[in-house]
Amino acid sequence: MIDVLVIGSGGAGLVAAISAKEAGANVKVVSKAFATRAQTSMAQGGINASLGNVEEDSVEAHIKDTLKSSQGLADEEAITKLCEEAQEAVEWLDRLGLPFSRTAEGKIAQRRLGGASGIRACYAQDYTGLKILHTLYDRASKMGIDFINEYLLLNYIVEDKKVLGATFLSLKSGEVQELRARSVIVATGGYSQVYHGFTTNSTASTGDGIAAALRAGARLSDMEFVQFHPTALKNSAILISESARGAGGYLLNAKKERFTDELAARDVVARAIADEI
Ligand SMILES: Cc1cc2nc3c(=O)[nH]c(=O)nc-3n(C[C@H](O)[C@H](O)[C@H](O)COP(=O)(O)OP(=O)(O)OC[C@H]3O[C@@H](n4cnc5c(N)ncnc54)[C@H](O)[C@@H]3O)c2cc1C
Repeated sequence: MIDVLVIGSGGAGLVAAISAKEAGANVKVVSKAFATRAQTSMAQGGINASLGNVEEDSVEAHIKDTLKSSQGLADEEAITKLCEEAQEAVEWLDRLGLPFSRTAEGKIAQRRLGGASGIRACYAQDYTGLKILHTLYDRASKMGIDFINEYLLLNYIVEDKKVLGATFLSLKSGEVQELRARSVIVATGGYSQVYHGFTTNSTASTGDGIAAALRAGARLSDMEFVQFHPTALKNSAILISESARGAGGYLLNAKKERFTDELAARDVVARAIADEI
């Protein structure tokens, strides 16, 4: 019997799997693609944590900036926890061997990203997500966590309002199979492909896990909060990373004039661009 069935092998799923394994559970990770192809591999700019390695920074400033960017709609308790634990999360990834870029003194390098009052984003060149995913996958594999790839979640198995596992379509054999588990963790990512052609997200971001949860009777919340990255290549929607603006890149309108603070929060910059167009 599986103790913990994790559906999704992105950053969220792999951290959950490693934590469960460290706690002594028998863990299986399932994903519809190959494990290291999760969208997490596409992240470039970095992860915010107020390490203060380049200039002075504080957890309080991180919390304040994040609340400001949320236009007052965020859950303050969740944001506080996120910002307070960010330093430890980055240091944990460092201890696992993530090849962060370094300052001249050998500390984890940081750069400025939008919506941040300080230089706060920790990065690994512009492959931050790829390096995170590879580091976590290496760790999970060394711990003996079991992976099943190309296994598409169809539905959760629910009896008496309890989730007892899930059914999957094996993309290799075409068979429908079920996996039973004591607990199930859903880490299947977002649903931005409803904006196909305008999203910078992976083609796998189709919201399957969320839809299956809804079918199983779960309550969903905050589904309207989809972040649009302000800058991408027009014909392919390939991301132009915010670190380009962080490094001094600026935006010009048709009259070759700047029209916004390029490092304001993403919704502000995206709206300013839409206004100009
Ligand atoms: C181009 C780009 C750049 C980004 N840059 C940054 C950045 O600089 N900093 C930052 O913090 N964030 C960035 N992000 C956002 C960040 O990458 C995501 O928020 C994060 O990776 C989401 O992780 P996740 O584990 O929740 O989901 P994902 O990485 O999307 O993983 C979802 C997993 O679920 C699996 N799955 C989905 N449906 C099913 C199904 N039906 N059955 C089985 N498995 C399924 C997928 O195969 C995958 O393994 C960026 C995103 C993109 C697209």
